[in-house]
Order: sequence, then structure tokens, then C-alpha cells
Amino acid sequence: MDRYDVIVIGGGPAGLSAAISAYDEFRAKGVEKPSVLVLERDVRLGGILNQCIHNGFGLHTFKEELTGPEYALRYINMLRERNIEFMLQTMVMSITGDRRVTAMNRQRGMFEMECDSLVLSMGCRERARGALNIPGYRPAGIYSAGTAQRLVNMEGFMPGREVVILGSGDIGLIMARRMTLEGARVLAVAELMPYSGGLKRNIVQCLDDFGIPLLLSHTVVDIKGKERVEGLVIAEVDASLKPIPGTEKEYKCDTLLLSCGLLPENELSNGAGIEMNPVTNGPKVNESMETGTPGVYACGNVLHVHDLVDYVSEEAALAGRCAADHSMRLKEKAEAYDRDDDTAITVTTGNGVRYTVPVCIRPKFMDETVTIRFRVGNVYRNCFVDAYIGDERVLHRKKQVVSPGEMENVILKKEQLTGASGNVRIEICTE
Ligand SMILES: Cc1cc2nc3c(=O)[nH]c(=O)nc-3n(C[C@H](O)[C@H](O)[C@H](O)COP(=O)(O)OP(=O)(O)OC[C@H]3O[C@@H](n4cnc5c(N)ncnc54)[C@H](O)[C@@H]3O)c2cc1C
Repeated sequence: MDRYDVIVIGGGPAGLSAAISAYDEFRAKGVEKPSVLVLERDVRLGGILNQCIHNGFGLHTFKEELTGPEYALRYINMLRERNIEFMLQTMVMSITGDRRVTAMNRQRGMFEMECDSLVLSMGCRERARGALNIPGYRPAGIYSAGTAQRLVNMEGFMPGREVVILGSGDIGLIMARRMTLEGARVLAVAELMPYSGGLKRNIVQCLDDFGIPLLLSHTVVDIKGKERVEGLVIAEVDASLKPIPGTEKEYKCDTLLLSCGLLPENELSNGAGIEMNPVTNGPKVNESMETGTPGVYACGNVLHVHDLVDYVSEEAALAGRCAADHSMRLKEKAEAYDRDDDTAITVTTGNGVRYTVPVCIRPKFMDETVTIRFRVGNVYRNCFVDAYIGDERVLHRKKQVVSPGEMENVILKKEQLTGASGNVRIEICTE
């Protein structure tokens, strides 16, 4: 059975960044020929970025505005410069807690590999119509926004001419603009919640600039047409998200795009018994991006859904570096990570905060700083983002607005955490 120092599952921006940083960490610590492998089921590396031909990527990482494929290419080139091995059209079928990977491709059929450290970076998928309970027939003309994006940007097909979009996540907003630029008419974007699920900049650049209405607190209650979508009925919803009778309005259209949330691709993680966070649907990780299963790391959209790829790359670089360190510790038979370290500090969510990544921090293993990323559960204006260590408030940051569509973060310093006992908790909250 082939054995690797580090295997990375998924060749999107998270997997690429993790593989590169793992390789660099080995080299920095004097390992001449580290064996790092990236497994990707698609025909090319780059993940979802290959279909995101709009600009807006890389402002933080490269201080430049790049398109998705350009951003991906920078990382693909870095991978190639290091001769890091990758296998395309190779689907990982299962993994185990002791880091055995079963994969399948045309050349080798089904095969198994082992590794010292495993990085999960399988990304996420879109919530489909079946999960949304929209009544009506199942006519042609209903696509997830990401599928439509792939058809238009990569395959050269137009899914329709008169379009309504349900859900105001970033993909839906970006597709509203894309379809308009390609000559379609986007009648409206309907959003169930009283706030958008996307970034403010996307609402401005993709809807406002093109005069496309955003209908907050609205949903699709009926789909007309048997063979092909012929129209939709949209109604306003009340505070409990139930359609309000009498507010129905019919829209004549031939296409409905769904942009109603992303689900981390965690079938492999679940199969391996990795402890999951029910809020993010991704694994629970510590400050090193290590899951509850030793030597298994997670990063990118498989961990929690990101809005900016730059943060994906940053988080994945940490996961890759820690995965390499774990491998080197195993080889040296040095002190393995002490998972029951009694200085591990739990990170909890307080008022208004839905989740945090990581969920626990071991000061002994953290860098000089640790970034805690989180999302809030509602829109709050003129509020404060606070961090407490025990009873002490260590951060109090004024925010004009925080919303579920925009990921937030707080950065804590090692010196703030060193010396705190395992009984102390960190709480992230809004006030
Ligand atoms: C439509 C869309 C528009 C976006 N627009 C922007 C933007 O304008 N600016 C910005 O900064 N960010 C944007 N983002 C966000 C950013 O692109 C994502 O956060 C980022 O691509 C996530 O990277 P990832 O590597 O975690 O996942 P992905 O890019 O999804 O990569 C995961 C990879 O894993 C592979 N994989 C999955 N399962 C397996 C398996 N079992 N075996 C082998 N391979 C597997 C997949 O094929 C895929 O290549 C956008 C995202 C989307 C979806």
C-alpha cells in the first residue's frame, strides 16, 4: 500500500494551499523529499474557482483583483514549482480514523493509501430543490445557481432567458449579474429571510447596479408549467417565515435559479466517525485545524462555508503546516499532540453568535496569535463584537453592522491565553 506523509483530499483553493504549506513546512524543517499528495475528482485543479470568472478574488492574499481561475492558477503554479504530486479524476470513496484512504480512478481502479496526516478539503455543495419543499411539478428550467454558473461560464450554454432567483446567497447574486450580462432578464431575487445571505458588495455590484429588485421576506410558493417552467408565484412571508395569503404575485419566466445555501461535503468525515459541529455541518477543530480524530485536519468550505477565498487559503495554510508538523512528530516518535492537554480552552458562543472555528484552543500549540472566525445569527446594527477570557473582556470592537452573510473574526494573542487554566472559557458574543 502506498504511504504518504500528507494526503490532501480536494484540489480546490483549500487543498492547494494546504498541500503547498505542508510541503514548505517539511522543507523548512529539513525534510528533503516530503511526500505530499493531492487527490481531486475533477478533471482539473482549482475547485469551484474555475467557474467563478468574475473578479474580486485575491484582494487580501495578492493585493490584486483577480478572477477565480487566475487566483487558482497562482496556487496551481506554486504546486507545480514544488513538484507536489496530484491525481486528477480520482474520487476518494472513504477514509478511516487511522488515516487510510480508499480512492478510485480509471488507471488504478479502487486502491488504498495510508498517510501520517490527512487534510480534508472537499468543499461544499448547494442545497437542492428537494431540500426546499417548493410545491409544483418538476419541469425543466430549475437549476441550482452554481450549476447555471458552470453551464454559462465553462460549458457555454444559456439556461434560460427570463429568470427568477430564489435565495440571495453570493452565488445567486453573482448569477443575477452574469445572466443579465449574457442577455437574460432577471426579474427578481426573492429571499426568505429579512436580510440577504450574501455580501453587501455583491448586493450593490450585482443587483443595485443592474436595477434587479431584491425581495426580502419573500419566497416561491408555486411553480407553473409541466414540461418547462412557465412562471412562478412569489409571496411575502411573515415573521415565522410562513407565506402571507393575499400577497401572491405571478412572474412569467422560464427559469428558476436556486441559491439557498451551501452544505459542506462531509460524507467522508461522517463515515470516519469524525466529530461534527451541528451548526456548521463541518468537523469541530482546534487551533491547529485538527479535528477530534488525531492527525486529520479540515479547512475551507468543508469546515465552514466561507465568503472570501483569501480566508480559505489562509486557514488551509495553517492546516497544511500543522499536518506536516504532526507527520514529523510521528516520525520522530516525539511527544504526539496531547489531545487531553488540560490547558485546552473551550471557545463558546455567546449572545448573537452562531458558531466559532476553532471550538478549542491549546495555547501550547498555537502561533503568536489565533484567529477565531464566526458568524452571527441575525443582522445587528451599532453593536459591539466582544471576546471574553473567563470574566475578563479582552476585546470590545464597535461594528456598524454585522450580518449572517459576512464572516467575522477576532484575533487573540498567545500571551492573553497562556496561563489560563483549562476551566476558563473564551466567549465570543455581540452586545
Ligand atoms: C459560485 C461561487 C462564487 C464565489 N465567489 C467568490 C468571490 O467573488 N470572491 C471570493 O473571494 N470568494 C468567492 N467564493 C468563495 C470561494 O470560491 C470558496 O470559498 C472556495 O472556492 C472554497 O474552496 P474549497 O477548496 O474549500 O472548496 P472547492 O473550491 O469547492 O474545492 C473542493 C474540491 O474538492 C473536490 N472533492 C470533493 N470531494 C472529493 C472527493 N471525495 N474526492 C476527490 N475530490 C473531491 C472537488 O471536486 C473540488 O475540486 C465563491 C464561491 C462560489 C461557490
